[in-house]
Amino acid sequence: MSEDCLFCKIVNKEIESQFLYEDDTYVVFKDINPSAPVHLLLVPRRHIRSINDLEPAHESLVGGLFSLAAKMAKEQGVDKSGYKLLFNVEKGGGQMVFHLHLHLLGGWQR
Ligand code: 5GP
Ligand code: ZN
Repeated sequence: MSEDCLFCKIVNKEIESQFLYEDDTYVVFKDINPSAPVHLLLVPRRHIRSINDLEPAHESLVGGLFSLAAKMAKEQGVDKSGYKLLFNVEKGGGQMVFHLHLHLLGGWQR
C-alpha cells in the first residue's frame, strides 16, 4: 500500500469502484474515461510503480495478468473479435497512475 496511490485506494475500497473481478492477487474494473467500448484495467493488489520496477519475484504476478486478460476478454465477449493489451510506462509512455496496471481495450465495430 502506497499512501497517495489512487489504485491502492481503489484496491482497498477506500474509493468506491465496482469490480468486475477480484481475487487475492488482482482486481479488475472499468476505466473511468474509456478509450474503447470495452476498456478494463487489470490491477495487481500489490503496489508496484511500473514495469520498470519489476523484480524476478514478480514474474508469476505479471504472467497471471495475461491469463486474467484472456479470461476477462472472453467474459466481455471480445475474445474472438479481438482486443489490445497495453502497459503505459512512466510519464513519457502515457502512464498517469503509478501503480502497475494492464489496459484491456476492445469492442470496436470493424
Ligand atoms: P495510465 O495512463 O496510468 O496507464 O492509466 C490510468 C487510467 O486510469 C486512465 O485510463 C484513466 O482514465 C483511469 N482512471 C484514472 N482515475 C480513475 C478512477 O478514479 N477510476 C477509474 N475506474 N479509472 C480511473
Ligand atoms: Zn498503489
